[in-house]
Amino acid sequence: MSSNRDDDCIFCAIVDGDIPARIVRETDHTVAFLDANPLAPGHTLVVPRDHHERVADLPEAVSETLFSEVTQLVPRAEAAVDADGLNVGINDGSAAGQEVPHVHVHVVPRFDGDGGAPIHAVAGERPDLSEAELDDIADAIERGGR
Ligand code: 5GP
Ligand code: ZN
Repeated sequence: MSSNRDDDCIFCAIVDGDIPARIVRETDHTVAFLDANPLAPGHTLVVPRDHHERVADLPEAVSETLFSEVTQLVPRAEAAVDADGLNVGINDGSAAGQEVPHVHVHVVPRFDGDGGAPIHAVAGERPDLSEAELDDIADAIERGGR
């Protein structure tokens, strides 16, 4: 049961068993289930039980458990579909393609020659950044903002 459920959220409804899903693993803080519209066989989503929209909203204990659970899930998904590798990723925010506003980690099995792309392909054209711009960006990230 989620302790801060959003009644409009489809993943909260899956966590609470109100809508069906092919659940593959559950822990106190996370639920993993097959994606309903998979990019590959074995495409699995790992979600925190509690409703948090963005990665930065996750309490530390939840984010630790979430990544730990992803670590457990990856070899299981890979073996289950006899994959050759996996992409693990989060669409964080609508600009990044997030459609369901409840943090979820995509675990996408990959196969040699499957015709897909690496995670480098998710953004648009690569920016041509000067050394000064790279220094400014690194400083801003280190400070936590501009
Ligand atoms: P996003 O674009 O938010 O990162 O990805 C949302 C993912 O959730 C999509 O891959 C989509 O197929 C999956 N999804 C959306 N609705 C449902 C649902 O009701 N059940 C399941 N199992 N997956 C869903
Ligand atoms: Zn939710």
